[in-house]
Amino acid sequence: MTISKLISDLRNRRKTATEITESYLQKIETSPLNAYISVNKEEALQKAKELDKSGDFSHPLAGIPVGIKDSICTKGVRTTAGSKVLEYFVPPYSATCWEKLEEAGAILLGKTNCDEFTMGSSTEGSAFGPTKNPHDHTRVPGGSSGGSAAAVAGDECVFSLGTDTGGSIRQPANFCGCVGLKVTYGRVSRSGVISYASSFDTIGPLTKTVEDAAYVLEIIAGKDKKDSTTPNISVPKYTEMLKHDISGKIIGLPKEFLEVNGIGENVRKETEKAAKILEQRGAKIREISLPLTEYAIPTYYLLVKAEASTNLAKYDGVRFGSSSGSEDLTDLYQKTRGTFFGDEPKRAIMMGTFTLSSGYVDAYYKKAAAVRRKIAEEYARVLEEVDALIAPVSPFPPFSLGEKIDDPLQMYLADIFTVTANLAGIPSLAVPTGKQNGLPTGVQILGKQFDEAGILQLGWHLESACKEEK
Ligand code: GLN
Repeated sequence: MTISKLISDLRNRRKTATEITESYLQKIETSPLNAYISVNKEEALQKAKELDKSGDFSHPLAGIPVGIKDSICTKGVRTTAGSKVLEYFVPPYSATCWEKLEEAGAILLGKTNCDEFTMGSSTEGSAFGPTKNPHDHTRVPGGSSGGSAAAVAGDECVFSLGTDTGGSIRQPANFCGCVGLKVTYGRVSRSGVISYASSFDTIGPLTKTVEDAAYVLEIIAGKDKKDSTTPNISVPKYTEMLKHDISGKIIGLPKEFLEVNGIGENVRKETEKAAKILEQRGAKIREISLPLTEYAIPTYYLLVKAEASTNLAKYDGVRFGSSSGSEDLTDLYQKTRGTFFGDEPKRAIMMGTFTLSSGYVDAYYKKAAAVRRKIAEEYARVLEEVDALIAPVSPFPPFSLGEKIDDPLQMYLADIFTVTANLAGIPSLAVPTGKQNGLPTGVQILGKQFDEAGILQLGWHLESACKEEK
């Protein structure tokens, strides 16, 4: 079910909001996927009933059931960020993005599973157990927004919100076969979203179709006085531009991406095939070079772990995750952080405080910040010559549960194609292209800052061509 189809069903009284909400809740209750950390059953049903009673379905998302990543604050509904530190945290306010969806009439089915504090690429880092890939229950759904992606692909919500700091929307969307949009840094307010790395974090939709992603973006994007990194740039009518002709558009194919060590043969072929499809629709494909690609992973991980170590400092047991029986303040800090943080946040704190410490800050943090600037400049330069880039999302298809969780470096390397968009602050859309050996395939389309309209358009054409092929 897509948003547009459900809206038409609701407005034409073919279905009631209660019926729809009940059927999704039932699906969640009997699901083996573990896509949700908390289910918002009573409130969801109550809201659906109120809507049916009023009969007013004029709001843009009236009666549409949604899953929200558990790192996004929802007033009165428990929000854990996948961590034991926040196991009993019920936020007294909502994130701006959820507030906007709620005002638009969306119904919150529950909070979707994610890696702890959104650090990870498999959702195995959640303190509430891993989520399973709906296409193969022995495999990961990707991460960190694995619950959001599995919920969409497994029909446990119509669409969801995720966050993307280094690929956490696009990679799970790619692994589960749904559309995932990472926006330009600042396009969607981060207010009320639990931070991983504040200068990288973005919020965006995971949906069944490109059209749905465009529709949701129109609602959640824009300036927010609670987030000073949201510029006052108007929000276009993305949905009205989707079908515009793409002939003459130039799309860059980064050669370093396709030559990366460890890239699967099928992944490379799928990317080239997607480029061909866009070529048949009138676009021009040009091979381009991004020589700094090899520095992306170390640069990204140095910087995000540094930012994470400061963002995690507030979970000290005074406000969050207090442990009983502490002897003094130091003991309280140690017990709280020692007991309630999982492995990856602990690694982030150790790596981050190390690279920010006085003896090392110049050699690591500042160096990485300088390389980040170079990478951003490289993308800006290339994107002056081409309209967009096409690239793989993950070097390999969904891996098995347990395969990489004990090898953090292998897990980090899974992000090779996604982190650069966050380093450069540019938007990127993950689009499914089909299936191979029963597992979803897809590509990402990267664009210039604030050109979400352009990549959604290309994504729409790719999606419709892939559907025709089937
Ligand atoms: N896997 C990456 C990391 O752990 C990306 C996470 C994200 O985008 N939130 O940093």
